[in-house]
Amino acid sequence: MSVIEMPEWVMNELNKIVHDFIWEGKGVKIAQKTLVARKQEGGLKLIDLETKKLAIRIKTVKKYMEGRWEFGWREFLKKYIDDVGRMGEYGWYMGFKQSMTVGMPDIYREVMEAWRQVKDIIYEVIPGFLRNNCIYDSVCELDGMESRVKVNNIYERIKASLPSKWVNVIEKSCVKKKQQDLPEMYIMKDGEKYNIKSISVKKVYDLFIMDQIKVPASEKVWSRVFEDLDVKKIWSNMDIKYNTIECENNDFLIRHNRIYTNVVLNKINNNNNVMCDVCNTDHETFLHYFLECNELKDFFVFLKSLLKKNCFDDVNLKERWRKIFLFGVFQKKTAIDFWFINYVLSHARLAVVLRRNYAHFEGRKVKIKDFFKAIMTRDIEMCCKYGGDDVKDFFVTGNKFIKEGERKEVLYNW
Ligand SMILES: [Zn+2]
Repeated sequence: MSVIEMPEWVMNELNKIVHDFIWEGKGVKIAQKTLVARKQEGGLKLIDLETKKLAIRIKTVKKYMEGRWEFGWREFLKKYIDDVGRMGEYGWYMGFKQSMTVGMPDIYREVMEAWRQVKDIIYEVIPGFLRNNCIYDSVCELDGMESRVKVNNIYERIKASLPSKWVNVIEKSCVKKKQQDLPEMYIMKDGEKYNIKSISVKKVYDLFIMDQIKVPASEKVWSRVFEDLDVKKIWSNMDIKYNTIECENNDFLIRHNRIYTNVVLNKINNNNNVMCDVCNTDHETFLHYFLECNELKDFFVFLKSLLKKNCFDDVNLKERWRKIFLFGVFQKKTAIDFWFINYVLSHARLAVVLRRNYAHFEGRKVKIKDFFKAIMTRDIEMCCKYGGDDVKDFFVTGNKFIKEGERKEVLYNW
């Protein structure tokens, strides 16, 4: 079998290792079920081990359905299916209960348990009439009707009342397969139909993870703070070409509202001063930290003029500055202007965080404008140095800010 059974404690240990790696052991900050989402939904596309395991178990059922006899386990599974359902391989089509698999070896129990979990989104196309057992099972599931004889009688009566022509069509002209062939099975999800025999493990995983994903908790906060913000969009422009990991990580934490402001720290430990370490005039809330701090005013004037020089219109900058500063602009990544704006702002946000940390941890005040310039030039020059001429071309094309000098050096129009 493709994957051996994985005890619960191994699963827990693996999850812990992944979490500790991401959060450096400082405890979970963003829900694991959010991190498994795709990046454009605010996640990191982290693998959810439980769901992955489920998908692999479903693959076992798929192999079974394919009728590939080279797998020795197939005979065992067939026997267990019969034990559970008492109707041979048709047992796959009934909705069995968890208790029915008690006493089976773990690996078979897991396969059947995975199957039980997906059963409600699977439907089957069976040529000809369903066996009485399947009908009985379906009716009981819906109705809790108990008497097998009663159900069978009703089924027979329905069949008998059908015009003989119909019966003929159903019994004979339906793509009647060999007796031992199992019905076609499909997974039905959001209006899409997937044949169980051709579906990949990845697809099964993708289908199931959709139900697991938890919407980022910060979305609620941003919708409250910024009335006309299309909050789902904030995850769409995180991937900025040639951006550094440091900036990306910072943007990720900002968008998830996972910034340790003094107000947050004060809630954890009330010895922590709530005031802004940089300007000392107000409480350091998230909005103060990134937008309202007195010591940011000049920096924002400088930033706006920098963006304006590169074809960003004035109206947008005045009216939507708070949103633009925090989340950037959402246009297509191919538009070079928008790349430029997002690249600049991502560095500006990092500069804001770093200058705050200098003040908070070291009691040092840095000149944010110079600090920002230093980070930007460092990152652009690093990219050009190691990325070669193509990268350099990318940086100097389409904006008036970055130029190439006579000695092929990078020049900036601050
Ligand atoms: Zn301040």
